[in-house]
Amino acid sequence: MFAPPPPATVRTQVLVPLRFPDGFHTTAVVFSFHGLVDGREHLAFGLGDWAASVRRSAAGGIAPLVRPHSECLTGDVFGSQRCDCGPQLREGVERVGARGGFVLYLRQEGRGIGLYSKLEAYALQDQGLDTYEANLALGHSEDERDYTVAAQMLLALGAERVALLSNNPDKAEQLDRLGVTVTERVPTGVHLSPANAAYLAAKARRSAHTLQVG
Ligand SMILES: [Zn+2]
Repeated sequence: MFAPPPPATVRTQVLVPLRFPDGFHTTAVVFSFHGLVDGREHLAFGLGDWAASVRRSAAGGIAPLVRPHSECLTGDVFGSQRCDCGPQLREGVERVGARGGFVLYLRQEGRGIGLYSKLEAYALQDQGLDTYEANLALGHSEDERDYTVAAQMLLALGAERVALLSNNPDKAEQLDRLGVTVTERVPTGVHLSPANAAYLAAKARRSAHTLQVG
């Protein structure tokens, strides 16, 4: 079912130089928005020659590369080894910058269940449940992420066609339904560590992620 979201508009755009712990650095244009449907403070990071990539795409050329990243406080900020969010974000910023496009920073912690519930799910995982079973045990869906605000941000930025940097087929299907054409799916790398191997295996098994683990 095709259901375009209500229009959002850019509220502020400002340059922010970025530097990651491994020394990689770049400059982003960070966008905030009016009109995002859930009222949360989601961000778009314009990287590389994002403006040219949007123009080129509008003229029928190659689409900007877009990485939707769901907030993970423990992984993004503190380098938690329980998931691969930190390395995924770091990879996304560099790869999007190389081609021109956007990293969308979506404030939906823990597959949308929230930070405290995510920590409770970790505790259940330590008792033997996988990440999806733990969410269900807490009364949540397996995955409550919703990409409506991602589509709103992309449409506000003029990116009606995107190349999607993701291994998750659900993201592409949701965006297509929301009026953003996914012209190409670009797989991300696999960031395996001893602590996140079980998490990545569950992700591959349970949500048709196109990654190979172990
Ligand atoms: Zn994470």
